[in-house]
Amino acid sequence: RVYLDYNASTPVDERVLECMIDVYRNHIGNADSRTHQFGEDTRSIVELARKQVADLLGVNADEVFFTSGATESNNIAIQGLREYAENSGKNHIVTTAIEHKAVLETLKQLEKEGFMVDFIDPDQFGRVKPEDVLNKVTERTLVVSVMHVNNETGMIQPVQEIGEELSKRGILFHVDATQSCGKLVEEIKNLKYNMLAFSAHKLQGPQGVGVLVLRKKSYKLPPVKAIMYGGQQERGIRPGTIPVALVAGCGKACELAVTEYQSNLEQANQIKEELINILRESGLSYHINGDQTYCVPGTLNVCIEGVSSEALMISSKQFCGISNGSACTSKSYSPSYVLSAMGIPVEQIESSVRISWGHGVDQDEVLNGFRALINVAKQMN
Ligand code: PLP
Repeated sequence: RVYLDYNASTPVDERVLECMIDVYRNHIGNADSRTHQFGEDTRSIVELARKQVADLLGVNADEVFFTSGATESNNIAIQGLREYAENSGKNHIVTTAIEHKAVLETLKQLEKEGFMVDFIDPDQFGRVKPEDVLNKVTERTLVVSVMHVNNETGMIQPVQEIGEELSKRGILFHVDATQSCGKLVEEIKNLKYNMLAFSAHKLQGPQGVGVLVLRKKSYKLPPVKAIMYGGQQERGIRPGTIPVALVAGCGKACELAVTEYQSNLEQANQIKEELINILRESGLSYHINGDQTYCVPGTLNVCIEGVSSEALMISSKQFCGISNGSACTSKSYSPSYVLSAMGIPVEQIESSVRISWGHGVDQDEVLNGFRALINVAKQMN
């Protein structure tokens, strides 16, 4: 069996696991307990992890806040601006039509509450144009929220250009970096943003922990407020006992990303080339969704003409884990909103699958699994 759904979740790196087991075995105590050494020990583990995250992103440790994942981080970054919106009279938000649901649904809720939200469509290759985003910004704009890399197509969005311009204009900018963190290591360091979100499980860390960055260096601290009530953990931004082992695993994953990302990228690129070769030699009619010049190395979204992605996934379920990015949580099938926003016709969307891979994969295993998948597709064609 081969797992090719890394954009959904990655396996935990063995060294991350060891680090977490060590915490579970040897370090008890609430990191916010100040009355004994146990608490101080776990606190120092949390602070080391904060530093590891900060080093990966090129930010200060005190700009890093741990959460339960990117969904929560995105929610805090956006919903946490409610009070500021009320005080400043700013009620307009700009985003893209291809954001993850964690951002889209949050903004749709704000829209119901009276906020004006512009959802910018990408071009046919799955990239939004910076000017399309920037042209919507007015003095009433509260925040602009754009993802760094799209989870379905792997397309890198022009957050560099957008961030540069917004910082000049003093407009708050939030970046959902869930699919780029640990992959576009240098690029992230050079971005200009006020808030940034990601989940550890997309970069070989554990599920259930994520990060929200609130930048203060060269910006005023964004006026983000907690969206839950409780204790003063994470300086009040995210109340609730800190899951020390998860946080330690998140930090370790970030540390590994710093030291290993270059070799990860090279391998991921090689795999993509080979996958495209297999497609080319298969005799099937296919086309790749998105423009590969702007795509992360570990993602391939491909339409195999005449082959239903649903049927292909069902037929290959036992030996291959892929995805088609559709809302399969509901009973009724709905075609990918990301590919729809790119203007791709429904029949092509229904034949599109996403293959994603990353650090630690066995190249031969991936290629053999993909060959087997293509053989199934050929039988269905
Ligand atoms: N944002 C993007 C771009 C994602 O790909 C995901 C997960 O797929 C999320 C946010 C949400 O992450 P989580 O489910 O870990 O909260």
